[in-house]
Amino acid sequence: MSETPKPADKIRCDACPVMCYIAEGKTGACDRYANEGGNLVRVDPFTIVERAREDGGKLVRFMDKPEEWSGDLVHADSAFITAVGAGTTYPDYKPAPFIVSSEHDGVDMVTVVTEGIFSYCGVKVKIDTDRHLGEERSVVRCEGEAVGHVTTGEYGSQMLSLGGVNHLTGGSKKEGRVTCDTLLKLSNCEPVELTIDEGSTVIVEAGKAPIIDGRHEEYMRVGCGSATIGMFAKQWFDHVDDVVVVDDHITGVLSEHQAGKVLGAKDTGIKIKGRRSTPGRYFQVAEPGSGWGGTDISDPLTILGDFNPKIAWPGLRLLMVSTTGEQHAYFELDEDLKPVARELPEALVQSVERIQENCEPAMSSVLFMGGAGGSLRAGVTENPVKLTRSVKDLLTVVTCGGAPAYVWPGGGITVMVDVTRMPAMSFGYVPTPALVAPIEFTMRREDYERLGGHMSAIVPIGDAVEQAGRRVGAREDNPWPTATHLYSWAKQKKDPAA
Ligand code: SF4
Repeated sequence: MSETPKPADKIRCDACPVMCYIAEGKTGACDRYANEGGNLVRVDPFTIVERAREDGGKLVRFMDKPEEWSGDLVHADSAFITAVGAGTTYPDYKPAPFIVSSEHDGVDMVTVVTEGIFSYCGVKVKIDTDRHLGEERSVVRCEGEAVGHVTTGEYGSQMLSLGGVNHLTGGSKKEGRVTCDTLLKLSNCEPVELTIDEGSTVIVEAGKAPIIDGRHEEYMRVGCGSATIGMFAKQWFDHVDDVVVVDDHITGVLSEHQAGKVLGAKDTGIKIKGRRSTPGRYFQVAEPGSGWGGTDISDPLTILGDFNPKIAWPGLRLLMVSTTGEQHAYFELDEDLKPVARELPEALVQSVERIQENCEPAMSSVLFMGGAGGSLRAGVTENPVKLTRSVKDLLTVVTCGGAPAYVWPGGGITVMVDVTRMPAMSFGYVPTPALVAPIEFTMRREDYERLGGHMSAIVPIGDAVEQAGRRVGAREDNPWPTATHLYSWAKQKKDPAA
């Protein structure tokens, strides 16, 4: 019978507050660190981003095998050290795992990388859909646990706010664990099924179309009903007497709308049941739902009252269409001024198709959001507030896995990053529970010194590149983190008045 090893036979990981004892050949509770021959090692490969070389040599985006480091400085100029797989120095009384120097355009730069442990982080999810997913402030659940809530409905999208301190640490143990797992999967671009209280079930995967109640969402609306009128009024005008764009937010009516008036559309005596906002724009024509234009209706005629007999005429041609063009119907008024459904005329088929053509593909977007404050900054500088100021002054650029991070105004270093722009599997977790996310700070060497940086811990980039276990090609839409135009000092140089 094998004996359970005593803690003395194990090594202790100090990379997070869990402080695992790890036996030889085993990993700790988060699977990020292992005991390899008595040494504590980071399990995931340390990742660098490489730019295509100037000689036109192409790089494969995600390379499996590390290349040999040649010591070539030109090559070093094309490499950026990410924090993915770099490790953590919790509680950051010691310098960050990698602090590297490199030269770009004749400027000495320093990049400090660390895998931050974020107990107070979340993701913002944007789901492109017209469909009503649930009431604002409804609880969003995963595996039955509350992981966030429905927030604002934006223009053609429904926003969810998931995670944050209250779900990660403020609820039950299971709620914290499920929330952390949900954030981890979403951030690593994996699908997650979410249910909204008294609403829909949505499968969200960053960069993919949402699946709402089992149905793949195809189109993001072209605009609200009023905007749709503005965009296509001219194309409809010659072929129809009136158009109603059915929309839960603003239903548009061509004959009353400014666009119709400018074109010379005449009154049709149409009556829309809803709250009139301005001419040709109506709110609350129906309840929110999964029907036409994000309303609960499947028959568009239910939003029409009787046509005014003093104005309308038999034979009046009416197109009704939704904001994605997916639903449409064509009517002509009979002798009693009642709409009778007819086949869509060819000219209108094209204009309905034009609406669909102008719709963006519906996507789920996931932005990771975290505050890079606390002790993490101590791994960068002995005087942490100076790092915050340096970031705010655009002397230091923040990236996550080499992807640009939006830094919120106000206190702290609160960042937001599109997870699809980061290397695959950039995120980890620790069971405290907290998410582990890569974060890099890049600045001029002189600025690093000025903010009290750990100067003696700086190593040449080549030393770090040698340790890289994975190289990924730079994304063309990610600015190169050492590009001078990102820094305030370069902007000042360009401004002759400065
Ligand atoms: S959970 Fe992971 S990071 Fe934390 S102590 Fe254990 S092995 Fe180390």
